[in-house]
Amino acid sequence: MYSGMLDRKNKIGSNSGLIADFRSDTVTKPSKGMRDVMANARVGNDVYDDDPTVAELESKLAEMAGMENALFFPTGTQSNLAALLSYCGRGDEYIVGDAYHIFIDEAGGAAVLGGISPFPLPTDNSGGLTPQQVVNAIKPDDFHCPISRLLCLENTVNGRVQGLERIASLAAVAHENDLAVHLDGARIFNAATTLNASLKTLCEPVDSISICLSKGLGAPVGSVLCGSEHLIKRAKRMRKLLGGGMRQVGVLAACGLYALEHNVPLLGKDHEKATKLAQGLQSIPEVSIDMSTVETNMVFMNPGEGHHQALCDFLHGEGILIGAQVPKIRLVTHMDISDEAIELFIEKTRSYYQTRN
Ligand SMILES: *Cc1c(COP(=O)(O)O)cnc(C)c1O
Repeated sequence: MYSGMLDRKNKIGSNSGLIADFRSDTVTKPSKGMRDVMANARVGNDVYDDDPTVAELESKLAEMAGMENALFFPTGTQSNLAALLSYCGRGDEYIVGDAYHIFIDEAGGAAVLGGISPFPLPTDNSGGLTPQQVVNAIKPDDFHCPISRLLCLENTVNGRVQGLERIASLAAVAHENDLAVHLDGARIFNAATTLNASLKTLCEPVDSISICLSKGLGAPVGSVLCGSEHLIKRAKRMRKLLGGGMRQVGVLAACGLYALEHNVPLLGKDHEKATKLAQGLQSIPEVSIDMSTVETNMVFMNPGEGHHQALCDFLHGEGILIGAQVPKIRLVTHMDISDEAIELFIEKTRSYYQTRN
């Protein structure tokens, strides 16, 4: 089976003694403060452009990204898809990394619904592509070929930060060849935190960005697409086509505004927790972790052959949820994981191997 897939078999199930869930940062639940702003949000029919809170979120993120306009979506998948459908038509092609979410984790939406073919390039271990790979992938103006229209990048990629120069050099070759550049920035604020850069700086080389509010930022729902006036106008039509025109969703946009103000500054703590977790686990002889890959809130741990499901089951019994992906289990830190839970994870993992020796 394709080894890039995340394991989604390990569910909370009947475990009522859950202490910490390391499977993903999408498990974060809205905090008391976030629920309070939901309760008090001003709302209107957003399909009529009547929701002031959605409008505020969109204009705030557009400004932060240095883009002309923005659009609120229920999910990042829909935001990415609306962008692709806005840039490309049937017979067009987008170039993308083969490890990127748009290519591997969005049900092939651009091909299924848009007749847009993907051209995946092998992504390196740090999540990167090279400008030469992109140049080599762009098709000539020849009726045999699809029309190369768009380059899709991602930041972060499996927790790996894509530096500004890397993104800029890839975008430059795309632009030289009249391709547009869309950035899947689901976790762009994690990248911004590690790089100590502004969102605007990270968006400068690209034409559009999709940002998730429902990952480490702790909102229950929501992504925002930022781009030019022209792109957002088209994307609004596509959002309607995809069934994503929503009504009184100021209650959800309010979570996004709350997250930008209160939770973006907390991402650094998630990264510290990931480093602490990786360091602790690495001191266990049976476990291997490449510390140089820990750049944001993700740790990839190899628990040793034959231990994946057994460790997962053992920790589940201790109230700790993880996946059991082979060869490396993905561990994600977030605001609903305490420092104590990190310590507990390390201690319990150590005891797992002790009972087995
Ligand atoms: C989560 C994620 C998305 C969007 O996912 P949704 O679950 O549809 O909101 C897009 N790209 C990346 C890299 C992601 O991690």
